[in-house]
Amino acid sequence: MAEHYWCHGPSCHTYVTTDRVRGTKGSKVLRTRKVKQHTNSTWYNPNNWYNWFCSMGCYNDFANKHADAIRRIAPRTEPLETRIEDPKREKHETHYGHTYYDTTIKKIDNAEQ
Ligand SMILES: [Zn+2]
Repeated sequence: MAEHYWCHGPSCHTYVTTDRVRGTKGSKVLRTRKVKQHTNSTWYNPNNWYNWFCSMGCYNDFANKHADAIRRIAPRTEPLETRIEDPKREKHETHYGHTYYDTTIKKIDNAEQ
């Protein structure tokens, strides 16, 4: 496994920050950031999108540029549903005379999910 990936943000190399400056004097560039992979850490998740993007902004740039291609990976042509018990609406009264309601929605365990 690589120790780092290059950020996949299509505009990463255009953002003006000092940590992106590379090159020798008279020949400087803004370079795409490296994204360090903490593969020896217990919290490392190989499927986390942060492995390939240096920031939420670069992730958004990528997702916006390739939105239609991403959608085509797993198109949603019908809504999904989660079975629930009939919602229970409960009335509450505070010591100060204020009345409010809340609704409890409970999922039904379903082996298909
Ligand atoms: Zn980036």
